[in-house]
Amino acid sequence: MNLLPPSQIKELLASHGAVPSKRLGQNFLIDKNALAKVVEAANLQPTDVILEIGPGIGTLTQALAQKVRKVIAIEKDAGMVDILGKTLKDFKNIEIVQGDALKLDPSPYTLAPYKVIANIPYYITSPLIRKFLETPRQPEHMVLMLQKEVAQRIVARPPDMSILAVSVQFYAEAKIVSYVSKGCFWPVPNVDSAIIAIRSRNDAKPSGKINTDLFFRIVRAGFSQPRKQLGGNLVKELKGNKKGITEWLLANNIQPTQRAETLSLKDWQNLTKNSPLGEN
Ligand code: SAH
Repeated sequence: MNLLPPSQIKELLASHGAVPSKRLGQNFLIDKNALAKVVEAANLQPTDVILEIGPGIGTLTQALAQKVRKVIAIEKDAGMVDILGKTLKDFKNIEIVQGDALKLDPSPYTLAPYKVIANIPYYITSPLIRKFLETPRQPEHMVLMLQKEVAQRIVARPPDMSILAVSVQFYAEAKIVSYVSKGCFWPVPNVDSAIIAIRSRNDAKPSGKINTDLFFRIVRAGFSQPRKQLGGNLVKELKGNKKGITEWLLANNIQPTQRAETLSLKDWQNLTKNSPLGEN
């Protein structure tokens, strides 16, 4: 098996008394080209260790395992884990871990350099990306299939920034590799998808030049009411006085009347480095 048609996926699930779970974001990849695009974007090497989140029935897992040293696949659904025991039984280089990817401590699996490659359940997108960017041992590379709109929000530039865009871009270079239509999945989801490649930027690590906690305190404060003016948000959330905040912004070439979404990553970094909050 590499790619099963919907009728056979349905049968496979039924033979384990299961149907696709909406709650767990179960939309299985059924398109050869889309699968090939993920694999290609992953730039796999025979020595690679891959962490896959949400393997489902193991379609991508198999494609990965054929090309790398080891795949560790983390699956939350016990029923799926049963199915994987069957569909992946001929592979010696796949380790199936039953668990919630958001709660699981990844450290046992990240001792050696690794990549995260996954068609993920969309409901966990933001926390999952954050988890792997903030962990002390970041992946060399992440290639994720996610909702098109979320992918576009992640790679956005001013004036369309969001906390998600600033957070990802703080740690990493992110780019959309390809768009994938919803017809490439079964059951067909409501929205189209995109494949995104995220590469950690080492200079942004918490040990780097910038105070990460302060950076995110300022970003969160700035975006607290995204439709309102930045100056007001910062005064309120950082409990600063208006004059001091205004001077701080102007000194960094930012107008207090701007919206947070118009600031670049560099603007937020400057604000952090030149912060009057006394902890930089
Ligand atoms: N990657 C597969 C399946 C995608 S569907 C494919 O491309 O066909 C998403 C999968 O993620 C499902 O198997 C679902 O059970 C699993 N999943 C959902 N929430 C999860 C979580 N918190 N941790 C790990 N796996 C999860």
